[in-house]
Amino acid sequence: MRRGFSEQEFLDFAKSYLSEAFPNPQRIGCPRDWELIRMSEHPKEELHAAISDHITFCSPCFNRYMEILGELKRRMRHAHRR
Ligand SMILES: [Zn+2]
Repeated sequence: MRRGFSEQEFLDFAKSYLSEAFPNPQRIGCPRDWELIRMSEHPKEELHAAISDHITFCSPCFNRYMEILGELKRRMRHAHRR
């Protein structure tokens, strides 16, 4: 029996949708790379509302943020193994 969307299914959907829906070749209004990294490591609503808003309508930033999150996860898995 299925109970609607799992979180993973939702993420997959969001990923495939957001990664292409909003091309922004001029990178207008994009945050700096380090700002995305800082948000991935220490997300703070009041500090990062503008950035997290931005990545929901900017595919290049969304893709970059997913990449950063992936790296962060890998690093955390690494840390846990030792
Ligand atoms: Zn952007």
